[in-house]
Amino acid sequence: MKLDVTMFRYITKEEFRVLTAVEMGMRNHEHVPTPLVESIAKINRSSCYKILQNLLRNKLVAHDGQSYDGWRLTYHGYDFLALRALAARGTLTAVGRRLGVGKESDVHYAQGPDGELVALKLHRLGRISFRAIKEKRDYLRHRVHASWMYMAKLAAAKEFAYMKALKDEGFPVPTPIDQNRHAVVMSFVDAKPLFQLRQLQHPNQVLEHLMRLVVRLLRAGIVHGDFNEFNLMLDEDEKVTLIDFPQIVYNSHPNAEEFFDRDVRSIVEFFRKRLNIEVQEWPTFQEALEDDREEEVSGGLKVTGFKAEEDALLVAAHEQGRAHREDGAEEKCCFLCPGPLLASDGGIEDEDEEDAEEVEAMAFQPPARPAVQEGLQDL
Ligand code: ADP
Ligand code: MG
Repeated sequence: MKLDVTMFRYITKEEFRVLTAVEMGMRNHEHVPTPLVESIAKINRSSCYKILQNLLRNKLVAHDGQSYDGWRLTYHGYDFLALRALAARGTLTAVGRRLGVGKESDVHYAQGPDGELVALKLHRLGRISFRAIKEKRDYLRHRVHASWMYMAKLAAAKEFAYMKALKDEGFPVPTPIDQNRHAVVMSFVDAKPLFQLRQLQHPNQVLEHLMRLVVRLLRAGIVHGDFNEFNLMLDEDEKVTLIDFPQIVYNSHPNAEEFFDRDVRSIVEFFRKRLNIEVQEWPTFQEALEDDREEEVSGGLKVTGFKAEEDALLVAAHEQGRAHREDGAEEKCCFLCPGPLLASDGGIEDEDEEDAEEVEAMAFQPPARPAVQEGLQDL
């Protein structure tokens, strides 16, 4: 789904009020009945009706009139609510074209208050992993209305919290700037993901650095869980930046060792396949924990604002998403999977695939500078 901010400036205060009312109603309704929207927004019936129709035309909400008269927010609507909050706080002044499509997010060029280039990551967790949520619903004992909005927001909150904690401990990660709903604003990393690089100037040094990084993370108390060529970025000097944190687990997690081994093996495999370097030895979980050449982070990372069960849900959703991708499953297991319902409501569209190719194709060219060339549109 493309983020299109052309309409953003034309959305009125009242329209945002109604959009927020739909969002609030969705805390306990899958589809929010019209009278509830009216009462939350405190807007009279005829104005509210007109506004909802307008929001519908702009694909900011979707309407289910067949089985039930109710409204729900689309990803597009959710994007606008997050952008509005970030713009009001002064974190963002403009948003530009998409610079990366991850497996569970869209990342855009954006601009901060002083004209600086920043990265805006919009989480789209529901894209692939809703089945995991359905399976875990009992676990939540219906205390939360598990939905794509909730999961995407959780992923963004977790990502922001870990990015902060890692940055504070001196790990090479982007600088976290702000977070609202499913959106994270962070410093723009002028580098390329490792998978785009055909060769390295100093492959052995980079390899050594990556292995030390994965060990340092473990000694700080965590396993990244997706430590691979897609989430490691290298700049011109081959300086590494690690990104993408929603699937992190503590080293006490029952699968921590398995995830750690998988992380290490991804790097080993990448170096073997892409760079023809056979790695003979690599750290195991136990060795890494006992490796006293690496300094321990005192008391581990300080990450706050997360409930253990929310975290478990998120990790499960990611694992399920990964399995889904590895199986190559096309199955439409839920209303969030790409399918006819979403194609018409401003949700996920087929063009996503084409966009991914487009991004791949342009990936070898460094982004044009200065920032104004990134297709920035003022908010
Ligand atoms: P996902 O969880 O969907 O995999 P990522 O965080 O890995 O999302 O981001 C997807 C892509 O966006 C990355 O591969 C990278 O190319 C780009 N990207 C992400 N964060 C930044 C950033 N801070 N600066 C520059 N590019 C970024
Ligand atoms: Mg990624």
